[in-house]
Amino acid sequence: MHIMISRLAVAAALACGSMSGAALAQSGPAPAPAKASETVPTAAQAQAFITAAEKEAFDFSIDNARVQWINATYLTEDTDAVAAEFGARGTEMSVRFALEAAKYDKAPGLSPDVKRKLDILRTGIVLPAPTTPGAATELNEIATRLQSAYGKGMGTLDGKPINGSDIEAEMGNINHTPAEYAEMWKSWHDQVGKPMKADYVRLVEIANAGSKELGFADTGAMWRSGYDMPPAEFAALTEKIWQEVKPLYDALHCYTRTKLNEKYGDAVQKKTGPIRADLLGNMWAQEWGNIYPLVAPAGSGDLGYDVGDLLEAKGYDPVKMVKAGENFYSSLGFAALPATFWTRSQITKPRDRDVVCHASAWDVDNKDDLRIKMCTKVNSDDFTTIHHELGHNYYQRAYNKQPYLYLNGANDGFHEAIGDFVALSITPKYLVDINLLDPAKVPSADKDLGLLLRQAMDKVAFLPFGLLIDRWRWGVFDGSIKPADYNKAWTQMRLQYQGIVPPVERPDDAFDAGAKFHIPGNTPYTRYFLARVLQFQFYEAACKQAGWTGPLHRCSFFGNKEVGAKLNAMLEMGASKPWPDALQAFTGSREMSGKALINYFAPLKKWLDQQNKGKACGW
Ligand SMILES: [Zn+2]
Repeated sequence: MHIMISRLAVAAALACGSMSGAALAQSGPAPAPAKASETVPTAAQAQAFITAAEKEAFDFSIDNARVQWINATYLTEDTDAVAAEFGARGTEMSVRFALEAAKYDKAPGLSPDVKRKLDILRTGIVLPAPTTPGAATELNEIATRLQSAYGKGMGTLDGKPINGSDIEAEMGNINHTPAEYAEMWKSWHDQVGKPMKADYVRLVEIANAGSKELGFADTGAMWRSGYDMPPAEFAALTEKIWQEVKPLYDALHCYTRTKLNEKYGDAVQKKTGPIRADLLGNMWAQEWGNIYPLVAPAGSGDLGYDVGDLLEAKGYDPVKMVKAGENFYSSLGFAALPATFWTRSQITKPRDRDVVCHASAWDVDNKDDLRIKMCTKVNSDDFTTIHHELGHNYYQRAYNKQPYLYLNGANDGFHEAIGDFVALSITPKYLVDINLLDPAKVPSADKDLGLLLRQAMDKVAFLPFGLLIDRWRWGVFDGSIKPADYNKAWTQMRLQYQGIVPPVERPDDAFDAGAKFHIPGNTPYTRYFLARVLQFQFYEAACKQAGWTGPLHRCSFFGNKEVGAKLNAMLEMGASKPWPDALQAFTGSREMSGKALINYFAPLKKWLDQQNKGKACGW
């Protein structure tokens, strides 16, 4: 998933992971240039500005991508320093362009194309500093301090200090006691979140002042402006989607609560009301797949095969796994990866140095210098990740003839959704098609519930979380949530959307939001909600085009050139057109909707409703 912030800097590399604590080049705030002159510019001047900006940004992006690549694949003090220097230059450029674009936005007679590019530039920075002397420096310092505080954050387990990635893993270990989960949850939120509050309050003030200078009501409104519709309309669209998928979430919540009650008893998890947030296998209760063994349906929980074992048995090594991923796209009619992909990618972890292992996909020259950076192991997760990362690469290449400012997904949910949609296609049928799975070993229909429930524990459980992170921030930025109520509002929204409660009483001066990476990291989050929904829309569309008639989650469109052609029609548009145009090119629909996700999980919903019969669902 995208972690990078500035739209300008995004073009080269896409890092993946809504859960990740590992930030790539963060473009935070930066020194702003002097205020633009007050005379009304002409359309010709706006066009000239765009031409110059695209050229400068294109050239910079290539140098920057090389620097970031070298840093990520060879971590030293020196490569860190150079990467930080280029990050700062990129941010400076983004801010300069955003302020300039705000000026030209008022020029009369702008072409739709120039207008679109100006808007992209104007919304191209996440945290704009105002031109007030000292504001940019202060904002930069705060943003850096918050990120560093998160990165160094520690909790405790059995009274002993434990770092962020270890505590994340331990929250997913199903062998701890409720008291241990509560200790980890409380210590992490108290020690990491709480000290950030004063800084965050100030950050909001400064960023709002910067957003106003760019012509937005507040920073949240600026974030909601990147979706080809007025900010209020976009907020309403996310609400519509949420209402479509909420009944499925509620059913999963109810069933999971019953299972947790059976395991832990009434004293820990009651049969009714909200779920204790620390019992769901994840520090933020955002994905629940780790506790799948506790909820697996009797008899259908085990698929009977493991993709990692199948790969081992057929003698796959990491390169062969990537070749299999390439073969998936080739089967749809996409051209083979360039020869340089194989010589320049980092497919396995080098033995002699530190690297960033977090998977990412790159197009270093914005043309065809495609690469992935992984530390691939021969297992099921990495096989999925390869298909996902290559989705980014094929998207990047498909839109490589677009002008620089359109070298991006149709909106920020699309890029992740492509990779995830392809990863959804790793079905038993596909594994048979590529000769990994013996046709006789295809799980029978009675395993469907296990397959679907495992998926739902991650993908459905995530939905309210994906929504509420920015809903909370929208309220913080527009002032409807006051600093004194930051934590109360956070806890209340966690209850309202996710139906969860903290394991212990929270003081009003806590700052639990800060205990989630993307808050101190200032990464907009609605994109992850959109990606979760879009991937099912893409998948359903592909399966329909392929004439699939069986259960949706069993579908494979491997080898279908018509699907590939339609997919390419969407991908090659990049960000050149409003996203509904792109969505329509592939799916035939202009509407982002939760209906495809609901169709995918329909057999599970039916089964959950049976399991939940007689239970007091809801909270
Ligand atoms: Zn990704």
